[in-house]
Amino acid sequence: MRLEDFDTGTTYNARVLSSQRITPASSSEEVREIVLEVERDHFEYEPGQSIGVIVSGDHPQGHKHHFRLYSVADTAPATNGGKPHVTLCVKRCNYIDEYSGERYEGISSNYLCDRRPGDTITINGPFGIPFEVPEDRNTDLLLIGMGTGIAPFRALIKHIYQDVKDWQGRVRLFYGAQSGLEMLYMNEEKDDFSQYYDRATFEAFKALSPRPNWADPIAMDYALEERSEEILSMLDNPHTRVYVAGRADILETLDRVFSRMIGSSDQWARRKAELKAGKRWVELVY
Ligand SMILES: Cc1cc2nc3c(=O)[nH]c(=O)nc-3n(C[C@H](O)[C@H](O)[C@H](O)COP(=O)(O)OP(=O)(O)OC[C@H]3O[C@@H](n4cnc5c(N)ncnc54)[C@H](O)[C@@H]3O)c2cc1C
Repeated sequence: MRLEDFDTGTTYNARVLSSQRITPASSSEEVREIVLEVERDHFEYEPGQSIGVIVSGDHPQGHKHHFRLYSVADTAPATNGGKPHVTLCVKRCNYIDEYSGERYEGISSNYLCDRRPGDTITINGPFGIPFEVPEDRNTDLLLIGMGTGIAPFRALIKHIYQDVKDWQGRVRLFYGAQSGLEMLYMNEEKDDFSQYYDRATFEAFKALSPRPNWADPIAMDYALEERSEEILSMLDNPHTRVYVAGRADILETLDRVFSRMIGSSDQWARRKAELKAGKRWVELVY
């Protein structure tokens, strides 16, 4: 769905409770975890859904309301009579115009990263189809994320192990970033996934660019191919779900690597179409 097709009519105020940088200071990338308190009694959402953020003003491109989406990065905590909270994981985006060479600041991401506790912002949503948790706890889940695409998986995995409980299916998380410094929630300073490492059903694999200072593709293909035997056995299971999140350019890499694993691009195209039709392959890409 195109951004202009979203209903931005119904909006809510949300107060920033905290804003914490989650990339180390030595990283050139700034990614922040921002926790909001929504100023209404109920605001329900599920892992895989996104919140709309609306930035009003005279924007350089001439529009009055700048609307962007951000995935929820945590499960909804119990409110205990208080207001609902939403956690976002936002990367500060800056762009260089390829003709003028000028640097532009992404409007919404800079606005969000500059907000401080106590500030009020305008949000709406939630939007998008959640990453459904199958009723059968034996279902295998293959989760593939890049960059801020880790956000929905942080929420989903927490939901599976803390709310659903007694999960028996395999949960395989493949997470890619340009360098170890940009591995969000999975680095030496902050590893939120470490609490699941002793679960028999959980394994996480990191995929890093072989040359972090170059714009090389992240080695997601190597990470997946190294475990092709298990991945193929998961795909053969008619219940396995595959969820993909993060930058859209991952899709090309995945098509290439799955085509190689399965035998040919035609075979993979057919298999992927079947998975998608059965809602067993779901993408949250941008
Ligand atoms: C479903 C979904 C979920 C998402 N989840 C997340 C998430 O969890 N975390 C996250 O960080 N992001 C997420 N995103 C991406 C996010 O919505 C924004 O696209 C991103 O933050 C950049 O928005 P921005 O307003 O900062 O940049 P924009 O202002 O929209 O800039 C984007 C484009 O505009 C151009 N541009 C910018 N300024 C100028 C200018 N002054 N003149 C000319 N051109 C200009 C840039 O070159 C660039 O191509 C998600 C997107 C989707 C669709």
